[in-house]
Amino acid sequence: MMKMTRRVLLQNAARTSAALALCGIARSSAARAESPVHAGLAPTAFRPLPLGSVRPCGWLLRQLRIQADGMSAHLDEFWPDVGPNSGWLGGTGESWERGPYFLDGLLPLAYLLDDDVLKAKTKRFVDWTLDHQQANGMFGPAANQDWWPRMVMLKALAQYHEAAQDPRVLSLMTRYFHYQLSALPERPLTSWGKYRWQDEVYVVEWLYERTHDPLLLSLASLLKQQGYDWHAEFQNFPFTTPTLRGLAKHGQTDRALQAHGVNNAQALKVAAVQYRLSADSSERSAFFHQLSELDKYHGMPNGMFSCDEHLGGLEPQHGSELCSVVETMFSLEVSLATFGDAVIADRLEKIAYNALPGTFTDDMWAHQYDQQSNQVQVGLLSKPWTTNGPESNLYGLEPNFGCCTANFHQGWPKFTASLWMNTHDDGLAATVFAPCEVHSHVRGTPIRIIQETEYPFRETVRITLQPEKPIAFPLSFRIPGWATSAKVTLNGSAANVATTPASFARMERTWDPDDVLEISFPMQPRVSRWFNHSVALERGPVVFSFDPGESWVKLRDRGMTADWQVFPKASWNYALAVNEANAPNLELIQTTLGAKPFAASDVGLRLQVPAKRLDSWRSEDGVAPAPPMSPVASTNPEESLTFIPYACAKLRVTAFPSLLS
Ligand SMILES: [Zn+2]
Repeated sequence: MMKMTRRVLLQNAARTSAALALCGIARSSAARAESPVHAGLAPTAFRPLPLGSVRPCGWLLRQLRIQADGMSAHLDEFWPDVGPNSGWLGGTGESWERGPYFLDGLLPLAYLLDDDVLKAKTKRFVDWTLDHQQANGMFGPAANQDWWPRMVMLKALAQYHEAAQDPRVLSLMTRYFHYQLSALPERPLTSWGKYRWQDEVYVVEWLYERTHDPLLLSLASLLKQQGYDWHAEFQNFPFTTPTLRGLAKHGQTDRALQAHGVNNAQALKVAAVQYRLSADSSERSAFFHQLSELDKYHGMPNGMFSCDEHLGGLEPQHGSELCSVVETMFSLEVSLATFGDAVIADRLEKIAYNALPGTFTDDMWAHQYDQQSNQVQVGLLSKPWTTNGPESNLYGLEPNFGCCTANFHQGWPKFTASLWMNTHDDGLAATVFAPCEVHSHVRGTPIRIIQETEYPFRETVRITLQPEKPIAFPLSFRIPGWATSAKVTLNGSAANVATTPASFARMERTWDPDDVLEISFPMQPRVSRWFNHSVALERGPVVFSFDPGESWVKLRDRGMTADWQVFPKASWNYALAVNEANAPNLELIQTTLGAKPFAASDVGLRLQVPAKRLDSWRSEDGVAPAPPMSPVASTNPEESLTFIPYACAKLRVTAFPSLLS
């Protein structure tokens, strides 16, 4: 290790204080270490740190603040479904999934921002729930006995316990799970609960790690037995085309639930929760098979699969529901912790840095139900959805249906909490990259870690370690699959560590206070291929789109917010003169990142892309048809188009035909 000079130490100390100032959050004591994994469950590659251990900084803190200043922290003030008459507050109003959905995201947001106003809002739901458990162990509004909304509330309560260590949580869960074990044989899982059982098993396993109650393993086994067999579905995947139009008209048939986008998003954690019960190594390949089947038949350039509302095929004008975006992210976070594969984190970042912010207005006061990779008009469209209604891509309060309005809140907070994790070898791992600060313990020693970066917009991640005293432990950090020439320095000198793409680099040594690790991921523009061999442009985890200009027209006021249509200002129908060979040479323009990380007004990255108009590719009723098979020819003059990150472009074309070279 390089001997630190006094000058380097002072520089590091100054940078550390600057990073702390950037965070702008009063620090409470470091979150307490949670109980270690118990022998009754298979060990996982990583273990999530308790909520509150990872705090957002830099652009991520600004993004969470945008969320809090937007609809998230005000929804209860004007949307009755999570308002004071909610069944989850003892009222006579909505008593199903919306209260729990809201809490599952607002609660981690409140604790990550250390925001007392938000904490008080969430505490009302928590207290009512914890204080009104029935004598038999059932909890929640008596007016609705469905198992499903309780699965969501259990996830929220687990996070609350991690942040607040309220002993009422373990008691409520234990009594409820005992009750459910006795009640399920008479009243089995049906409908949504049958297809989303794995989300409850995730919490059952969470509780088992803390109480070691053997009945919990019996309950996990019964839930799996009554729940839908997702692995069997994917062994012979039947949904290879968007074929559900007719079926869905007949209501919630089982087949419609099997092809339902949000169900499929949640099911991406089935392998992870089953692995913990069985230690069967085939679960890992089952996870990757499930993901690859969704990609093969429904994959979108923004990292999602299409589901509008049922699996919608490969054409990039199909939509992806916001609930499926945040639920896929959560499933990937669970799967990443369980299996520890870097490519799972690659996918998580791709969705978090494109699909998630791309489906909100810049101020997060309005969102879509369905977003499209090729989205040339936002309005009252009769097409192209598989089963959704004509308001699905409006930016608004509750376009098409209100589930996403209640459920979107979990996306950024749970992602933030997953940036760092404990490792199976008693170390720490940087799993996904964004600016943050970690307060944790390693091998009994308190440690603070400051991660400074403008990733995914920039190439460098700087990690300053502040253990209370020198301590030996393995530090792991992800090398993304696209990072073919990552470089690592330790205290300014080249570090001796393997940086194989799509792996976790691992450095085991004695870490001293003020040690600085700097990781650089050169990001060259690259091409990916989609429907009809169309091309999309990516750089690092960021997908690029062409925005034809946006004319925003208010459709109607909706309480504290409004519903918006957006019309294009110029042509969008181009074919690109790019391919795998010339994409790395595209001109990249980098400017200072603004206050809103994913707003076109503040964008810090642009790509100049040669293209020609393709006259034959024209919109139909506000929808861009699927791009024609590439390559294509055009006699129009070549132009240079400016591309911006997908998430900044609220109208966009992402998958283009490529020109004959
Ligand atoms: Zn939804």
